[in-house]
Amino acid sequence: MKKKPFAKKSLGQNFLIDQNYIDKIITALNPQKNETIVEIGAGRGALTKKLVERAGKVLAIEIDKDLTPVLLKEFDQQDNFFLIQQDALEINFQSLISLQSPSKQAKLVANLPYYISTAILQHLIQYRNSFTELILMLQKEVVERITAFPGNKERGYLTVLTEAYFETEKLFDVPPNAFRPVPKVTSSVMHLITRKGVGKDFDEIIFRELVSLGFRQKRKTIQNNLKNAQGELLDLFERRNGVANVLKKAQIYEKSRAETLSLDEWKSLCKYLIDE
Ligand code: SAM
Repeated sequence: MKKKPFAKKSLGQNFLIDQNYIDKIITALNPQKNETIVEIGAGRGALTKKLVERAGKVLAIEIDKDLTPVLLKEFDQQDNFFLIQQDALEINFQSLISLQSPSKQAKLVANLPYYISTAILQHLIQYRNSFTELILMLQKEVVERITAFPGNKERGYLTVLTEAYFETEKLFDVPPNAFRPVPKVTSSVMHLITRKGVGKDFDEIIFRELVSLGFRQKRKTIQNNLKNAQGELLDLFERRNGVANVLKKAQIYEKSRAETLSLDEWKSLCKYLIDE
């Protein structure tokens, strides 16, 4: 019998082996026969197995070609299984999903390698309108950062950005011994539901620049961070008579720290910066 390829640390290969957690993730995703599911990082197919049983169509993305024989041996007979051997960061999900899904939308599930989780999240934000909802497993600390409420010091640029596009909720932790090889860290599973119509109520580019600048030095006040604006952002602040004036109009205390601001306050700041 041919041996399974060794797990590659460089690709973040910690495979789920605990059936209990596999079932919990699938229950959270709740795949239906009329739905298309995208899975990033199919690995040895722990989640894929349940997906092909329950979903209409499964688009399994896996970068590691050494895993191709493992996945094909297991699933090639299933006519709802499609293997995409590619780096998920290079995939245009809008083209893929509009081609493969009758509804032009899909659900996504991924047990993500930790080293690319932020990059993948940003990539998924770009293609959010192709997804109705996502179930993501990430390092526990990253999930806690993304779901941190205003006032929590873990709140940062990634939190506000993700919250602007998705409703987010942490679901449960997954201990290291649920994987092989056993990772050093605990993981958490989170649920993201795409918000509809985002971008119509604020300027996305200015919003991102504003939030990024606001969080630049977390120990500084929002006012002091925003005073470092450059380029278009600086022009906008100057046109609105300076940072202090914009903060006042948006009813944000100038000595607040960025992590205390809610999504609505960031949007309001963006609005007062742009609107005449
Ligand atoms: N889903 C499987 C499971 O739960 O057991 C595997 C999870 S493992 C943590 C992450 C998987 O993502 C690995 O199989 C790895 O090869 C794959 N991967 C890593 N980087 C990737 C990328 N940029 N694009 C697609 N797959 C990637």
